[in-house]
Amino acid sequence: MEIGIVGLPNVGKSTLFNAITKAGAECANYPFCTIEPNVGVVAVPDGRLDVLAKLENPQKVTPATIRFVDIAGLVRGASRGEGLGNKFLSHIREVDAIAHVVRCFEDPNVVHVDGSVDPIRDIETINLELIFADLETLGRRIERVSKQAKSGEKQYLEELSVLERLKESLEKNLPARAVDLTEEEQKIVRQLCLLTSKPVLYVANISEDDLIAGGENELVKRVKEYAEKEGSQVISICARVEAELSDLADPEKVELLSAYGLDEPGLNRVIRAGYRLLGLITFFTAGPKEVRAWTIREGTKAPQAAGRIHSDFERGFIRAEVISYDDLMACGSQQAAKERGLVRLEGKDYVVRDGDVILFRFNV
Ligand code: GDP
Repeated sequence: MEIGIVGLPNVGKSTLFNAITKAGAECANYPFCTIEPNVGVVAVPDGRLDVLAKLENPQKVTPATIRFVDIAGLVRGASRGEGLGNKFLSHIREVDAIAHVVRCFEDPNVVHVDGSVDPIRDIETINLELIFADLETLGRRIERVSKQAKSGEKQYLEELSVLERLKESLEKNLPARAVDLTEEEQKIVRQLCLLTSKPVLYVANISEDDLIAGGENELVKRVKEYAEKEGSQVISICARVEAELSDLADPEKVELLSAYGLDEPGLNRVIRAGYRLLGLITFFTAGPKEVRAWTIREGTKAPQAAGRIHSDFERGFIRAEVISYDDLMACGSQQAAKERGLVRLEGKDYVVRDGDVILFRFNV
């Protein structure tokens, strides 16, 4: 699962991406400074994993991870192939969700491609490019389905009517994710892999001063109002401070965080929000060898969750011995939880919940 970082040039994407991955991509004060998409894998910060590790004292602790891709070069006109246009749109097509970085800081030393700081205009510039690209996809599909619908077959007529409705909404500049669709309609639309149906998280990049003042400013408020209308979330961070933090060792990091009145880096919030945006949850395995966080989609059943660990676990699945993280904490150890009857035996239809600590039993 992958999150693509998008935004206009010079809004702080690379700064954020570097902070996230410390991958060391170039960061310079001019458009197109990051041309190839960069991919970074980051650990998902999860306090529960640290607590479990203290409890079990294992040889190894393995966090869940998530992939971020820095997709630079999206500019006005991209859908017409301007800038590095279509190439970037195709990178966006490949990701599962979008972190849209929006500039909410004033800085005369950092050029804005459109000459002034206006986050709503910036968001709309990018969203419009994505909408244009989607309209093209939709147009091609409508052309095909119209021909098929001439047969009078119900299936094609229904599809055509959904596509036409979606087109009308897109033409009013509404992203596909903001259009109300029934489950059946969603199935039809999903096949199109539209760019604007991907879930979005807006990352408002604010100045150091606004961070100290509590993380909000007038521009962030406007972004929040905009995001609420389409049901998206907003997280404000200061990319520059995040970059600084990511270069520090722990004691200095804690010091700098408290100087800004933070209890954790803003990146942690971005990463966790990205994880939720993708509809992902975590279950744990905990033993003397390894304590590990595993990522699954919400709604995954026990055998498929076991399959994340090893395909043999799924094939030979017998049962799962499950204890919720909270119950485990209340009991203090897996043994104590067992004695108090809090370890549940679950079968193949059990839907795994976030925070479950699981031991799988399987035939080899
Ligand atoms: P990108 O083109 O979106 O990847 O933007 P960059 O990350 O390369 O940033 C463009 C310029 O803005 C660089 O000079 C950064 O140092 C600067 N910048 C990024 N984030 C901040 C911030 O939070 N505050 C200030 N003042 N400048 C920033």
